[in-house]
Amino acid sequence: MNTENIQQPFIKIFPGDLSNNPMQRNTPKVLFSTIKPAGFDHPKLVAFNEQLSEEIGMGKFEEKDLDFLVGNHLPENINSYSTAYAGHQFGNWAGQLGDGRAIIAGEITDASGKKSEIQWKGAGATPYSRHADGRAVLRSSVREYLMSEAMFHLGIPTTRALSLALTGEDVVRDMMYNGNPQYEKGAVIIRTAESFLRFGHFELMSAQREYKTLQELADYTIKNYFKEITSEGVQKYKDFFENVSRKTADLMVEWYRVGFVHGVMNTDNMSILGLTIDYGPYSMMDEYNLNFTPNTTDLPGRRYAFGKQGQIAQWNLWQLANALHPLIKDEKFLEDILNDFGSYFWETHDRMLCKKFGFDQLLTQDEKFFTGWQELMQDLQFDYTLFFNQLEKFNDLKDLKNQFENVSYTFLDDEKISKLENFITTYHSRLEKNIVSKEKSAEIMRTANPKFILRNYLLYQCIEEVQEGRMAMFDKLTHALENPYEEIYPEFSVKRPSKYDNTSGCSTLSCSS
Ligand code: AMP
Ligand code: MG
Repeated sequence: MNTENIQQPFIKIFPGDLSNNPMQRNTPKVLFSTIKPAGFDHPKLVAFNEQLSEEIGMGKFEEKDLDFLVGNHLPENINSYSTAYAGHQFGNWAGQLGDGRAIIAGEITDASGKKSEIQWKGAGATPYSRHADGRAVLRSSVREYLMSEAMFHLGIPTTRALSLALTGEDVVRDMMYNGNPQYEKGAVIIRTAESFLRFGHFELMSAQREYKTLQELADYTIKNYFKEITSEGVQKYKDFFENVSRKTADLMVEWYRVGFVHGVMNTDNMSILGLTIDYGPYSMMDEYNLNFTPNTTDLPGRRYAFGKQGQIAQWNLWQLANALHPLIKDEKFLEDILNDFGSYFWETHDRMLCKKFGFDQLLTQDEKFFTGWQELMQDLQFDYTLFFNQLEKFNDLKDLKNQFENVSYTFLDDEKISKLENFITTYHSRLEKNIVSKEKSAEIMRTANPKFILRNYLLYQCIEEVQEGRMAMFDKLTHALENPYEEIYPEFSVKRPSKYDNTSGCSTLSCSS
């Protein structure tokens, strides 16, 4: 691998703590602290993403590279670091947080000039570990590795995963926070992104009234990642906030398209580039349910439930607006952008739903149609993904029960079937309004509706195997997730088996990772 080409512009520009001191502490006025990975004596490679490595300019993996993959070996010129950020967690200001177990090596530039930051997750404690160990377990590392790649292949903005390795070290975790700590295998992944900057980085500088650094951070972000912004002065920061709002809304709509529930949408988990970041207690949705949250910590208020993600993104943007206020100083402007978020989000959302149904345009009557559909989905407990796959295949109104019973989690009695029949009749008359051909409409549906989604129970099965050193399921899932709009393995295109309904790690997950 070409580790020699890694550069570190971030730490050359911004104030940092260069002490390499791992002691956990507040590091006021700085955006990073230099820190070395812990080092592991017996690492073992689990997975390497060759395609991504070539794409970002890291080249081929050789046996000797394993040391780099777990942070044992750093190229000479590299001063690895963790970044400081703050955030609002579950609606409350949480102050300084920072990379608790992420350490950045630097960034690499590919042949086309595109930059990728390289980051270890789970490679050891940092000044921001907050009494935790800075380690990650195999279970959560498999979940992040596979899901971030699944999102990428679905066409959704995301951080990516380059490698997954066992550290050879055992880590203690109380998976369900119920007083049952157990040893689990430790692991490190390398993840990449154009940038790992979060809303929380801006919040931290703003809260500390470090307005000069705040401005430099905004300038750096705009110059490197928002090349479309050409304005100057205050307008530049206004355009920046507007851009971040749009990208965030677009991301939420994409999550709604495939049924992704993040689970912990705290502002420190919001990428400033609108990427999906920090895969923890996330879940793809099986049965359609606006109230569904996979995160056990979130169960009391369901703040981060599927149906709330748009609204929460807006709330998080509100916090970002407060953080950027010293640069923009125009409340009216910020409020307008935040208000526009709602209309932009809903219009984009409804256009997305149109595609899922094969409609070529959004009509005013569609809002009512969508509301009716949502009620039907929850009432008949349909599987979100399989419902659309079935709608695509569907041909005979007479045989509805047979065609749809396998995509529902409840018994479809006569009353339910008659509701479905009414819906399908309305749907067909709505389809008649399409201007494009039937073939084109089918193609719109095919590209909007995945055939394969990485369900939690599949991950659960996969993790059990990987824990025992078996990789067959992991490889099979990798193949499936690389081609999500095709049905490569029919056995994966079925609803969640009932035995997993209440298995922790399938229906609900904790943050423990
Ligand atoms: P979250 O909101 O779940 O993404 O995490 C909140 C903070 O806790 C982040 O700053 C993480 O880096 C940190 N964190 C989570 N797990 C660990 C761990 N095992 N060791 C150190 N820090 C952690
Ligand atoms: Mg996080």
